[in-house]
Amino acid sequence: MTRYVYDFVEGNKDLKDLLGGKGANLAEMTRMGLPVPPGFTVTTDACRDYLHTGEAPAALLAEVEHHLRMIQNQIGKTFGDADDPLLLSVRSGAKFSMPGMMETILDIGLNDVTVAGLARHTSDERFAWDSYRRLIQMFGRTVFDMPGSEFETELAHARDAAGVRTDAELTAAQLRELVNAYKKVFHSHTGRDFPQAVHEQLYLSIMAVFRSWNAERAQIYRRKERIPHDLGTAVNVMAMVFGNRGENSGTGVAFTRDPATGRRGVYGDYLRNAQGEDVVAGIRNTVSLSELSAIDPSAYRQLLSIMERLEQRYRDLCDIEFTIENGKLWMLQTRVGKRTPAAAFVIAAQLVDEGTITLDEALQRVSGEQLAQLMFPSFDQDAAPQPLTTGVPASPGAAVGAIVFDSAAAAAATGPVILVRRETNPDDLPGMIAAQGILTSRGGKTSHAAVVARGMGKTCVCGADELRIEDDELTINGRALHAGDTISIDGSTGRVYAGAVPVHPSKVVRYFEGELSAYGDPLLAAIERLMIHADHVATLGVHANADTGPDATRARRFGATGVGLCRTEHMFLGDRRVLVERLILAEDDAGREEALAALLPLQRADFEELFAAMDGLPVTVRLIDPPLHEFLPPLEELTARVARAEALGEDAGRDTVLLAAVRRMHEANPMLGLRGVRLGLVIPGLFAMQVQAIAEAAAARIAAGGDPQPEVMIPLVGAVQELETVRAEAEAVLASVPGAPPIRIGTMIEVPRAALIAGQIAGAAEFFSFGTNDLTQMTWGFSRDDVEGAFFSRYLELGIFGVSPFETIDADGVGELVRIAVTRGRAARPGLTVGVCGEHGGDPASVRFFHDAGLDYVSCSPFRVPIARLEAGRAAG
Ligand code: ADP
Ligand code: MG
Ligand code: MG
Repeated sequence: MTRYVYDFVEGNKDLKDLLGGKGANLAEMTRMGLPVPPGFTVTTDACRDYLHTGEAPAALLAEVEHHLRMIQNQIGKTFGDADDPLLLSVRSGAKFSMPGMMETILDIGLNDVTVAGLARHTSDERFAWDSYRRLIQMFGRTVFDMPGSEFETELAHARDAAGVRTDAELTAAQLRELVNAYKKVFHSHTGRDFPQAVHEQLYLSIMAVFRSWNAERAQIYRRKERIPHDLGTAVNVMAMVFGNRGENSGTGVAFTRDPATGRRGVYGDYLRNAQGEDVVAGIRNTVSLSELSAIDPSAYRQLLSIMERLEQRYRDLCDIEFTIENGKLWMLQTRVGKRTPAAAFVIAAQLVDEGTITLDEALQRVSGEQLAQLMFPSFDQDAAPQPLTTGVPASPGAAVGAIVFDSAAAAAATGPVILVRRETNPDDLPGMIAAQGILTSRGGKTSHAAVVARGMGKTCVCGADELRIEDDELTINGRALHAGDTISIDGSTGRVYAGAVPVHPSKVVRYFEGELSAYGDPLLAAIERLMIHADHVATLGVHANADTGPDATRARRFGATGVGLCRTEHMFLGDRRVLVERLILAEDDAGREEALAALLPLQRADFEELFAAMDGLPVTVRLIDPPLHEFLPPLEELTARVARAEALGEDAGRDTVLLAAVRRMHEANPMLGLRGVRLGLVIPGLFAMQVQAIAEAAAARIAAGGDPQPEVMIPLVGAVQELETVRAEAEAVLASVPGAPPIRIGTMIEVPRAALIAGQIAGAAEFFSFGTNDLTQMTWGFSRDDVEGAFFSRYLELGIFGVSPFETIDADGVGELVRIAVTRGRAARPGLTVGVCGEHGGDPASVRFFHDAGLDYVSCSPFRVPIARLEAGRAAG
């Protein structure tokens, strides 16, 4: 038979699934012999049962009664006793902490009779009536969903009637009157009297906590944090202790290290003569925890020693809630504490130094996501003014620019701009691309603005609901701003500032760039240490996507051990566009050869620079991939130019020819059209020229004493015959270049068919590189260039997926193709090198997937190389 209730002495910290985080940790502290008020936990099983059937499991009440008797025995007080009543708190506690999501009810067990007993027994009538009125208030709100304002109104009346300013000044008699008023409010709202039966109070409270799991706020929070909806919450029932019994009492929170910086020391806040909620509510000013050493030295010393024991037990930073009742310390909560990304690195390294954890464990205490956060530029907090408002931090970074209110203005602007909108839609895309950052007044982390901005790596603050946007005026809390005024937005905190706040480049980036030494800086030293260890244990290599020498040099500084993707199409832009036009427009072999001959030396020089930058390390060069018409002017532009010329009676000349070519080459679906290997097969000499440039550049590097290691990569292969054909051509070219080193030829796996027939393809490929952008696009049938703006935000809202499959690899679908291709490819060619060069190569969750899939390396943008290195190390650990 399932048990639904566990006494604190029965549980431990590893039972979070069953007892929730709070319950498991209360049990652990109880086991350690720490002063925890006695209590028990109702399991998440009971909650799931309740949510499923709408009723508490039959056995639950009897079990609760049984455990309640154990509390009574320990405390020596009885629940509902008229003389000296036991009071209880009922606290929610799910597996993952969901701060503020579900409520706590304190002082359960007070009624018209017991309140008098409590008053007599504590000789504190005021305290008793104050506790009673708090109970009615919390109970009404939590169990009956009454608006808190109804009680606040009564409280304000009571203060006015008494002629006092704070609640603390109300006398016992006045509080008793207030209780009567609260009871009336309770009755008029619920149609029933406030329950005098204390057991009913307890059961109704437990069920209310169960129900609160499905409260809208809780659901939204879970969706945002990707916490499963079917876990349910546990409920903790424990004896009350009172921090509000005078100056020798109080309540506080503490951290075993500074959660902001990781520094060792005593951090926290303490509030005298107060109950838990008062600290968080910020009603009165707290004092810093260190002042407790003067207020109550013995409780303070005890707290410090408990904090040390907790750190040893949890082997990590802990946060703590405690209460002191008449000089006696009580522990009410602990957990492994949240911390900033910087603190995560510092603490992990400290714990290694202290001999508490190993370097392997330290690596698991930090994440690529945290490192990424540390690599964004940030505002100089000292120079920042008061923020105008704070919205949802949707996409990190620090952006400064002039306000623009529409996409056209953003696209037309010459300087940096911030696009300010109520919300964005697909029409805003050009403006979003042009802007430094995006600020909206509506929508959360899955709004269109947020999703698109994150996809572009652009700073975004959304849902800043204090913004009023009217035509071309923006008002924030009464302050008016206009188009052209400068604002600064912080995508990591959600803060919005007037004017230009100075931006600090990330010191972590400066360290990776070699501009700063880690010496003497705790954060950089911690990062250095963990990166060294990550590199040491990683089995997955990290290469960079880099097209130029400078890119490759930077990637190398960031720790890349090769170039996994050099996109050669970037070498056809700028002034070289004309040469490509000549190639496209060539009417015969001679014209085409001439155009290719002009491109050859330019490509060769590009490659030489790249190989020099990556000397001694592999450089995977992808032959030209995009449809060639991308190199021609857009159709609308040409049409307009030709029309203008005709209207003026001029000869449109070359434009007429170009227009005809663009029309001829038009494709309804260019991403599925004439591109990749298909170009190599259709346009004679194009791939051969590129291969020749690679071979000649390598030969030149060798002649100069270098050690070039180029590889030729053929994109978009779907049939082995395609690959065999271009391979034969490439091999012939390679053989014809004197002094060229051996150059491997491989292919991208990005058409689903290629993944499926990877065994055949491996016969003609010495390596595979997964192009997971195209592979995702083609497997889902999603046009990557359109969907993020068009409907992904809706898909995320609906929970169809938790994260865009272009951001984190879809392990079930696209990932299955990856696994199939690895297995079949390696079966056909043992020792086949396999890597990935899509955006996913720099995404922490995807890096882990690629490690598990047995890839040799990931390749990502230079900036994300450290992130991938760290994750590769973590995945191996
Ligand atoms: P949250 O998860 O929102 O922090 P808690 O369950 O921790 O909610 O409760 C909020 C506060 O209520 C606690 O910080 C604590 O100060 C107070 N509290 C809870 N249980 C008790 C108790 N048994 N005795 C005294 N105060 C309590
Ligand atoms: Mg708490
Ligand atoms: Mg591709």
